[in-house]
Amino acid sequence: MNCIFCDIINKKANAEILYENERVAAFLDIRPVNYGHTLIIPKAHSENFLSVSEENLLELIRITKMISGAIYKSLNPDGLNIVTNNGIAAGQSIFHFHFHIIPRYKDDAINFKPNLKSYNNGTMREFADKIRTEIFTKG
Ligand code: AMP
Ligand code: ZN
Repeated sequence: MNCIFCDIINKKANAEILYENERVAAFLDIRPVNYGHTLIIPKAHSENFLSVSEENLLELIRITKMISGAIYKSLNPDGLNIVTNNGIAAGQSIFHFHFHIIPRYKDDAINFKPNLKSYNNGTMREFADKIRTEIFTKG
């Protein structure tokens, strides 16, 4: 399997690694939205949020919080976006699960905000019912 993030973990590819432990690694995104844009990945390859193990996900979240604090203190952003893209339709381009930490500034003119929809005629309940049915009867 060809995976650039596995290559980074195995030191077959270069990266600006900020931190690593037995389960996870954090390194700078090579094409940052803003400087300091960081990726946090599990060392065990898994494709997305649903397939990553709970143990690795918990550790990823713990380290994402720790690195977020370090980014706040060292770079002084006005905010952070912490995001994960899952699936091609959601913009995922590297199929080794990762969180992005993106430093944000008041005047950075980056806009992730989509045109928002409205629910009408009971459709909000319909969507909720579909998801609740899956949670409570099939999950
Ligand atoms: P996504 O599109 O959510 O899957 O995010 C993948 C991210 O990986 C993108 O923001 C890329 O810029 C970043 N990326 C791709 N190759 C490398 C690399 N060799 N080193 C660091 N970041 C990379
Ligand atoms: Zn991988």
